[in-house]
Amino acid sequence: MSSLHHRHLAVSPDWLALYYKRPLEITHGEGRHVWDADGRRYLDFFGGILTTMTAHALPEVTKAVAEQAGRIIHSSTLYLNRPMVELAERVAALSGIPDARVFFTTSGTEANDTALLLATTYRGSNQVLAMRNSYHGRSFSAVGITGNNAWSPTSLSPLQTLYVHGGVRTRGPYEHLGDPEFIKACVADLEDLLGHTRAPAALIAEPIQGVGGFTSPPDGLYAAFRRVLDRHGVLWISDEVQTGWGRTGEHFWGWQAHGENGPPDILTFAKGIGNGMSIGGVVARAEVMNCLDANSISTFGGSPVTMAAGLANLSYLLEHDLQGNARRVGGLLIERLRAIGAGSSCVREVRGRGLMIGIELVRPGTDEANPEAAAAVLEAAREGGLLIGKGGGHNTSVLRIAPPLSLTIPEAEEGAEILAEALRSVD
Ligand code: PMP
Repeated sequence: MSSLHHRHLAVSPDWLALYYKRPLEITHGEGRHVWDADGRRYLDFFGGILTTMTAHALPEVTKAVAEQAGRIIHSSTLYLNRPMVELAERVAALSGIPDARVFFTTSGTEANDTALLLATTYRGSNQVLAMRNSYHGRSFSAVGITGNNAWSPTSLSPLQTLYVHGGVRTRGPYEHLGDPEFIKACVADLEDLLGHTRAPAALIAEPIQGVGGFTSPPDGLYAAFRRVLDRHGVLWISDEVQTGWGRTGEHFWGWQAHGENGPPDILTFAKGIGNGMSIGGVVARAEVMNCLDANSISTFGGSPVTMAAGLANLSYLLEHDLQGNARRVGGLLIERLRAIGAGSSCVREVRGRGLMIGIELVRPGTDEANPEAAAAVLEAAREGGLLIGKGGGHNTSVLRIAPPLSLTIPEAEEGAEILAEALRSVD
């Protein structure tokens, strides 16, 4: 065990999740690759969603950060700050939300916390609807709306949370239903729930559940939910922390796959937009955003340095059509992985959109989750020079693939080959 791992154990809580039996110390990166402390190079198929949406050490972002850091790093909310105003204008315009206002935070957790503060204040209710198997962050309130108990250590909460069916179909009562029947059943469940509650503030949902294992509700489900919620005045919060900025290939935001009823009332984002710098944020209609009648600031949210990174990264991803790249390269990668999965006794399903792809593993010949195989494939892929993620409910048996959006076709093919070999090692 490396001495750094011993030092980590000495100072960090036991619940801090570290990947790998021999934890990895990443020292630097470039493009879609990272290097460890022993000088080994890995193709990074997970960092794109963790932090580095576009590419590691992207010169455009590095330069913008260095220049801004050399000029001024100051509070972002008591004084004007040009990069923050410019990024807010661009995010507001891209959000699809009319009369949009933006508030920057430093993480997805804090963005969701702010969304909950807005929704509960606006509606005068502490009831929140959330999806089963969801993940929304690690603050006290975010844990309270997280329906995935592997990541939600307490049921105590300032909110009363009611969980709704729809985010995941596997191993639930609706497992064998086709899309239209599934949508009907989930809507009936929601209607029934609303008949038994007071007046919930909002429903919060991930367009594709991230930590929950990259599970997509069928297109049309959230639009059907919206029709019901709108009748009851319940707000819609779309948690775009993983699905935003073109990752799904087809759309810039995840909500657009369900967009018949227009944009969400509140949208939250984080992770990728700073290409690794800590940016989170909330977008809402002015009427909702301005419902708080006390002052608030975020000392570090909207810092000129992170905002400069966000602006440079956003320009890069739009100019290079990385959404289109996610669609093209992700489409090829998912096809290739489906072919590999068809030959593996452990693979139940390969699913996804764009560069957000999940491979669900089961015990051969059964429908039972196979977390041991997922852990073994993660290790084997690392040995082969590929970093991937895992997720999917309490039994983390879904391999998660979310590379930087600039992934090339040869890199996709190389990663698929390493994964095929890793899967063979557990078959
Ligand atoms: N929402 C979703 C959908 C997430 O995936 C995450 C992070 N995994 C969060 C919120 C929390 O973001 P952060 O870790 O930046 O607080």
